[in-house]
Amino acid sequence: EPVMTFSHVTKHYGPAGGGTRAVDDLDLEIADGEFVSIVGPSGCGKSTLLKLVMGLEPLTGGSIEYRAEATSIQAMTGMVFQQPLLLPWHTVLDNVLVPSALQGRARKRADTGHARTLLGMLGLTDFADRYPYQLSGGMQQRVGIARALLHDPRILLMDEPFGALDAMTRDQLTMDLLDLWERDRKTVLFITHSISEAVLLSDRVVVMTPRPGRIAEIVDIDVRRP
Ligand code: ADP
Ligand code: ADP
Repeated sequence: EPVMTFSHVTKHYGPAGGGTRAVDDLDLEIADGEFVSIVGPSGCGKSTLLKLVMGLEPLTGGSIEYRAEATSIQAMTGMVFQQPLLLPWHTVLDNVLVPSALQGRARKRADTGHARTLLGMLGLTDFADRYPYQLSGGMQQRVGIARALLHDPRILLMDEPFGALDAMTRDQLTMDLLDLWERDRKTVLFITHSISEAVLLSDRVVVMTPRPGRIAEIVDIDVRRP
């Protein structure tokens, strides 16, 4: 049973009939626990697709359906952005706890243990009480991942999460993300322009055409993990 179903999803920017067609009659089903990457060059509509999933932009046509049990897409997703977007005057631990803090002090206290566990899984045990500026870019992005996982979302959405990192850090984080995913098979929708990253991580790779909004092919990756 799919956790998310895209049917004839279409998004135009600008006037009806004119403007940019950023997503064009796209059909896709994402199964529970599947890791799906969307790959394509800049401008092919990847970010727009994620914005549609998050409800940050209205659809022009078609529909995106989520498995019915969730009250809202926000309740079932965690989001990792290209920039970690950490609050500079809060510690690493408090940054992970931002989604809890928004729900009050009691919730924050209740979630602190889990936040520390996530920091441990991401190799940041010793950095919980430091501040973002004391961390490398790769470590800051790990904090962003921990924050997205705090409330155990059903679906993890990642928009070029390693795009701002150098090649070595990027490779390391890719391997660590793979480890993390093997332990706790979440549904992941991962946007990247790196084919190698997509192939390494994914069950399926959705390759977009340079012309915005269309799928060139969907590749099943079944040779990867032992
Ligand atoms: P990608 O994430 O793959 O780089 P985008 O989704 O950002 O692609 O963009 C897809 C197309 O839609 C591009 O032609 C882009 O210029 C256009 N586009 C994106 N956002 C807007 C917007 N807010 N208004 C108008 N055009 C946009
Ligand atoms: P990405 O890294 O996803 O390719 P871009 O640099 O293409 O992002 O776009 C950055 C932001 O500008 C996005 O929020 C996108 O929606 C918006 N944008 C992109 N193209 C246009 C456009 N032609 N008109 C207005 N906004 C745009």
